[in-house]
Amino acid sequence: MVVPSTLRGRCRRAAALALLLLILLAGCARPWSIEVSWKGGSLGAITDERWREWAETFAAEVVDEHALPLERALWEMGITAIETLSVDDAAAIDWAEVADDAWLRDDGRIVLNGEERTAATVTVTSPPEEALVTAHVTDVAPTICRALGIGAPATATGTALDAPSTERAVFIFIDGLGYRRYAAARERSLMPYLDSLGQPHLALGVYPSVTRVTSAAFLTGAMPAVNGVRSRNVRATDAETLLDVLVANGLTSVSVEGDSLAFNMRNTDVVLSGDRDGNGHTDDNTFANAMDVIATRMPDFLWVHFHGIDDLGHTYGPDAVEVDRKMTEVDGYVREMVNALPEGTLVIIGADHGMHAVSEDGRQGNHGTLQPADILVPLWVTVR
Ligand SMILES: [Zn+2]
Repeated sequence: MVVPSTLRGRCRRAAALALLLLILLAGCARPWSIEVSWKGGSLGAITDERWREWAETFAAEVVDEHALPLERALWEMGITAIETLSVDDAAAIDWAEVADDAWLRDDGRIVLNGEERTAATVTVTSPPEEALVTAHVTDVAPTICRALGIGAPATATGTALDAPSTERAVFIFIDGLGYRRYAAARERSLMPYLDSLGQPHLALGVYPSVTRVTSAAFLTGAMPAVNGVRSRNVRATDAETLLDVLVANGLTSVSVEGDSLAFNMRNTDVVLSGDRDGNGHTDDNTFANAMDVIATRMPDFLWVHFHGIDDLGHTYGPDAVEVDRKMTEVDGYVREMVNALPEGTLVIIGADHGMHAVSEDGRQGNHGTLQPADILVPLWVTVR
């Protein structure tokens, strides 16, 4: 059949017009906004404009080009911990059930565990413990600096916790020991030495609740947005750290770590503790190295980082018996270390984050979210 050329021309024009219309429609996505309420008040609205700003700042967190972790948006709005969340008038959802799979799309839709919904409002509740919070992970550096009689790091906003003036200080960093996990362990006396130190501060961590981001907060006394370590792929900070301040004041430090550095530490004498004895763990080696430093060259400030509770929590899940045993083992190391310290040493013992159960290939535990099991940590401040 022969189609008249005038008709062919008209079809082409119509197709071109339809294509143009499609392109125009795609290009002007509808603006949207979601009101966020927390602790009975409004935090303002998440908007499409804010979404695009965050997607630029946190490009590595964007999934499928169109979704950001919902927690990223909520943290940037000022939320520090989440017990439940409700969308519009729907029933509140236990955050622990969805935290690992909660997304905010660039069209304003919220996706929880694969279920997509529109949202005009989001209402978030805090864990009951938040009313009892007495410390923050950014308090560690200011507390140590004040005890040693030196100024806090330049951008620190943490508060110096109650502690006497001391000659020396030690920070014992127990990776992955969340507050809720410790509180449950206390019921069973799994960490008798820590129990003997009395009720720890209940401290808030930072988002994402991972070692790198919290290490930066510990060392700078500043929030992630200030020290620049805002996500897990950043491993160094330009902000002044506790270790920088010590050196500037003519004081010495040693940092005893596991087999590698999770966070770049400068201006300190780093001692790495590989699994020398091949027993699959580094905490025993870390402990031996720390004891050696205490006995032979105790500095003005000693940092000791135990990784085992976190490692085993990832492998077996936070409530596994393997983790119970490791908690008791580390508790014993802490006891021996503190007893070996020169009298009058300020001792701060704390954790970067906790752990929640997951069910993934080769992994039964993880952290990084704003759920209470991850974001609430214990912090002890005592003097040897
Ligand atoms: Zn971990």
